[in-house]
Amino acid sequence: MAQVDVLVAGAGAAGLVAALAAAEAGATVLVAERDARVAGTTAMSTGLIPAAGTPEQARAGIADCPERLAHDILAKHGGRTDARMVEELARRSAGVVAWLQRHGVPLSLVAGFTYPGHSVRRMMGTPHRTGAELVAALLAAVEAAGALLLTRARVAELLPAGPARIGAVVLERPDGALERVEARAVVLAMGGFAGDPGRVARFIPAMAGAVAHTHPGCRGDWIDWAVELGLEMADMDSHQGHGGLALGHAVPILWASMTEGGIQVNRAGVRFHDESRGYSEAAAAVNAQGGAVSIWDARIQKVLDQFDDTAEARRAGAIVAAASVTDLARRLDLPQGPLAATLAEVETLARSGRPCRFGRRFTHPPLAPPYHAARVTGALFHTQGGLVVDTQARVRHVSGQPFANLFAAGGTARGLSGPGAAGYIAGNGLLAATGLGRIAGERAAAVAREGRA
Ligand SMILES: Cc1cc2nc3c(=O)[nH]c(=O)nc-3n(C[C@H](O)[C@H](O)[C@H](O)COP(=O)(O)OP(=O)(O)OC[C@H]3O[C@@H](n4cnc5c(N)ncnc54)[C@H](O)[C@@H]3O)c2cc1C
Repeated sequence: MAQVDVLVAGAGAAGLVAALAAAEAGATVLVAERDARVAGTTAMSTGLIPAAGTPEQARAGIADCPERLAHDILAKHGGRTDARMVEELARRSAGVVAWLQRHGVPLSLVAGFTYPGHSVRRMMGTPHRTGAELVAALLAAVEAAGALLLTRARVAELLPAGPARIGAVVLERPDGALERVEARAVVLAMGGFAGDPGRVARFIPAMAGAVAHTHPGCRGDWIDWAVELGLEMADMDSHQGHGGLALGHAVPILWASMTEGGIQVNRAGVRFHDESRGYSEAAAAVNAQGGAVSIWDARIQKVLDQFDDTAEARRAGAIVAAASVTDLARRLDLPQGPLAATLAEVETLARSGRPCRFGRRFTHPPLAPPYHAARVTGALFHTQGGLVVDTQARVRHVSGQPFANLFAAGGTARGLSGPGAAGYIAGNGLLAATGLGRIAGERAAAVAREGRA
C-alpha cells in the first residue's frame, strides 16, 4: 500500500496542470493514467487556451480584460451556467498562461483570425498549434517538478473515509491486479464521457450514433462514483460538437474556413444554416442533412495553413482544390446549377452587406476561384457536463456540502458552456482544464499540508 499527499486521476491537461501546481506547492504527487501513453483528448486538440489581458495582447494592440472574456462566454448561452466560475477562470486566465510559460510551455498569441464567440483575439497556442505539443510540454514540466506518473493505472474506485471525505483510491492494472493508494487529497481529472457510446446515448441523445472524434479512454468512470457517493452532476447534455470533421479522414477542418467567409452546402448544393454561429451547434445541423460539403477559397486557405491540422488534412487528401464552380461540382458530386446559384447568392450578399435567410452577414470578400472544399460530417469532440464544483474546485455532495479533499477539473467537472451544444465557444475546454486544474492542484496540496500538520 502506497501513500501520497495528492493523487491525480488522469493525465490530460487538467491532471497535468493540477499535478504541476500541487508539486510546486510542495506536495508528493502521483498521477495515475489508465493509458500506456499520456495523451487524452488534450493531445487530439488544437491546444488553444483563451487568456484575457495578456502582455502578448497588449503588444499586438488588443484591448481585453477578464470581464470581457467572461461576458463572451456567458453571452453564448445567455448565462445558463455558474457565472461565478466563469468569472473566476476568466480572472485567472492570463496568470495561468504566464505561469505555464514560466514552466516552459511555449504559448504564443494566435494571430490571423478571431474565433466565433470571442470579441477579440485572445487564443494562446504552442508553436504548431497542437495539443500534442501542449501535452509534451506539460509532461516535461510535471516531471521537472517532481510529480510521479504511473501509466496503465486506471483509477477504479474511490474509498470514502467518513462523510464528504476520501481516504484512498484503488488502481486497476492491465493484468487485473488491484493496488490501494492512500491519499490526503484526490483530484479527478479523467476527462468527460464521450468515449462511452452508451453514456453519450443516455445523456446526449442528440449525438447518439454520431461520429465521436475523441479520446476513447474518457468513459466517464466518475459517473458511477457520483451515483455511489452522491456527488452532484450538472449540464450532462453539454458538449462540444464540430460541424466540420473531414468525412472518412478523422481530421477536423478548422472552423476559420467558415468564419472567414466560407459556406456549407448539402447534397442539393444549397446552404442550410448560419455557419458563422459556431462549430459546436453546427454538428447537429450538418448531421440533419446527412453530411455536408464545406467550401472556402485560396484567401481563407492561407489562414488555415498556420495550423498543423490543415497540413494533416491536406496529407490525408481531405481537401479538394477546384479551379471553377463546374470543377467543384464535378469533384464533390454536387448539382452544378444549384451550387452556382448558391455561390452567386453569397457573392451578392457579401457585396450588399444584407443578412441571408439564416441571419448571417457575409463581411469578408466574396468567395473566389480557385475553391477549396471538403466533405464533412458532424462529430462529438468532448463532453462538457460533469461534477459540480465550487470555485475552489471542491466536488459538491448532493446535499450541497463540498467534499473536504475531493476535487475535479477539466472534462470531469461541469464546464462553462451551459446545457446542449450551442453554448460552447472555442477554448471553453482548455480554459476549464488549465484554470480549474491549477486551482485543484493548489487546493489539494493545501488540504494535504493541513492533514500532515
Ligand atoms: C479535435 C479537438 C480539438 C479541440 N481543440 C480545443 C482547443 O483548441 N481549445 C480548447 O479549449 N479545447 C479544445 N478541445 C477540447 C479539449 O481537448 C478538452 O476540453 C480538454 O483536452 C479536456 O482536458 P482533460 O484533461 O479534462 O481531459 P483529457 O485530456 O481527455 O484527459 C483525461 C485523461 O484521463 C484518463 N482517464 C480516464 N479515465 C481514467 C481512470 N479511470 N483512471 C485514470 N485515468 C483515466 C484518460 O485516459 C485521459 O488521458 C478540442 C477537442 C478535440 C477533440
